[in-house]
This record gives sequence, C-alpha cells and structure tokens, in this order.
Amino acid sequence: MSDPFFQPPSGTDLPRYAGVPSFMRLPHITPDDPRRAEVDIGIFGLPWDGATSNRPGARHGPRGLRDASTMIREMNRATGQKPFEAARIADLGDVAMSPVDQDEALAAAQGFIRGILGQGIRPFMVGGDHLCTLTVLRELRAARGEAFGLVLLDSHTDLYPPYFGGETLTHGNPFRQGIEEGCLDPARCVMIGMRGTSYNNSDFQYGWDKGVRIVPIEECFEIGWRAAMQIARQVVGTGPTYLSFDIDFVDPAFAPGTGTPEVGGPNSFDAIQCVRALRGLDVIGADLVEVSPPFDTGGITTWLGASVMFELICAMQP
Ligand code: MN
Ligand code: MN
Repeated sequence: MSDPFFQPPSGTDLPRYAGVPSFMRLPHITPDDPRRAEVDIGIFGLPWDGATSNRPGARHGPRGLRDASTMIREMNRATGQKPFEAARIADLGDVAMSPVDQDEALAAAQGFIRGILGQGIRPFMVGGDHLCTLTVLRELRAARGEAFGLVLLDSHTDLYPPYFGGETLTHGNPFRQGIEEGCLDPARCVMIGMRGTSYNNSDFQYGWDKGVRIVPIEECFEIGWRAAMQIARQVVGTGPTYLSFDIDFVDPAFAPGTGTPEVGGPNSFDAIQCVRALRGLDVIGADLVEVSPPFDTGGITTWLGASVMFELICAMQP
C-alpha cells in the first residue's frame, strides 16, 4: 500500500543535509490539508518545557529532532521493516503552545490531539518535557472511553506528588495524574530504568500501592535487558498500550542533552534493543520526550533521539 506521496526523499536523490527539514523527511501536512485524513501515524511536536524542574530546553526538542532525523534512512536493517511503506506517516507540525501559560499550552495541545484522533490518526508526540505526555493520555482516554496500559522507559517514575505545594503539575507527575484521571490502568503499567538519588520513596510507594510494576535499574542489569522487556510485555499483555520514552532513560554519556540526567543507565544500543522488544504490542500512541538541544554535546542526543523515534515507529507496526 506504499503511497509515493508519503515516501521521504532518498539521500541518494537529495542529500540528507539539504532541503527543508521535517521529521524523517516525511511530508509536512497542515491541519487544513485534505491529505491529513489519509495519515495513519502522525508525528507532531509539543514545544513546551515550562514544567521542567531543573534544566530547561526541551521546547527546542522538536526543532532539533527534525534536523537530526533527516539522517534516518528508509529501512530498519535489524528487523527488515520499511515503516514508511507499511503505513502513511507524516509530520503534522508543531502545536502553537504558549511558552508561559501552562493551562493555555496544555489546552492547545489537547485540542490538536483531539483533532487528529478524530481523523483516526495514531499519535506520535515529540516533546517537550514529560508533562506533554499527559495531554496525549487525556485525549486517548476521552476518545477510547477506557483506561489503557503503559510502557515507560525513563530514569524516573514521574509519579511524584506536585512540587512546591499546591496542585501544580510538572514533568515529575504526568503518570500519577494519568492514573488519578483514569487514563491509565495501573495494573497494566510498567516502568523500566529508574535510578538516581531521590527526595524519598513516595513515588515508588504510590506506584506499588496502585499496582504499577517498577523495574529499577539494578534489576534491569541483574536480569538483563531482554528479560526486563519480557516483564514489560507480560504486564501490558495484548490490550491497548501507550509507549513513552524519556531520553534520560539512556545513560548521560550517550544522551547528555536532557533536563534531569541520571548516571548508570543503558547505552544507546541497549536502549534501541529495548524499543525493538516492544514490537507486536497493541500500540495506540507513543512519544519521545525531554530532548534538550541546548544541553546537548555535538548533537549526540538528538541523533540518538531520532534513532529512537524510528525504532518506536517500527514498534508501532506489525
Ligand atoms: Mn520523564
Ligand atoms: Mn526522566
């Protein structure tokens, strides 16, 4: 069903460093374009980092990843997949989010996501900080009418209570909020790679109390990544599942360009193998978040991020 319109130009026809960058050189389709109704998987940017608790810059993630992802070629040699032939995938652009008003920014994102879900498009969100994921969870819940499962690859659980008192949402609590709002079925949530210092154990305890399976980094390295991802598959089973990849899952030696790095994580190869292990799940949406180009070194984080995006898109296909 390969549609020539949705094929990225080959680097053998137009050099990879040339042309106007879009995600993976896919066609850029605006909301009023009639071809948007034909899209199977829509990649879009949420350039918002106002919910970061430490180093900002993830608002520049979509721009940086568009540039880096022009390096992606058509075929996944490890799996044999040709994702742009198997599905119509497009760059749907960025949502116009206020850089200063969180409620306004989240509402704009949710309105955009509601629109693409209404057209039957599977969302692939590029952050932005991890609070951006909550907007996708909320709209998927509204569209589907039921809670779904989650595979989170992250060095943090993002199950923290609000910071600074009050009710303020941050990138430290999208999944706590997603559980509280009934978007996520905690018994079908699995979180892999947690590490680093902590204020206390309240995030783990919250997850355990709700039935979330947390696989901390010590367990990952003890049993091996293949076994860790087997746990993930068992927890989410065959039901609808959302995939969320925080780039700080990867060791900062490989991904320094992020807001809250934690040492002692997987290398680039292991991280990519983890994503490949998710192929065949019922994936209703996915994201890559927390890439902060201003803190990057030589573009290594955006390049890894673009590669992770490609693997996630492959994992969304049979
Ligand atoms: Mn996170
Ligand atoms: Mn994180």
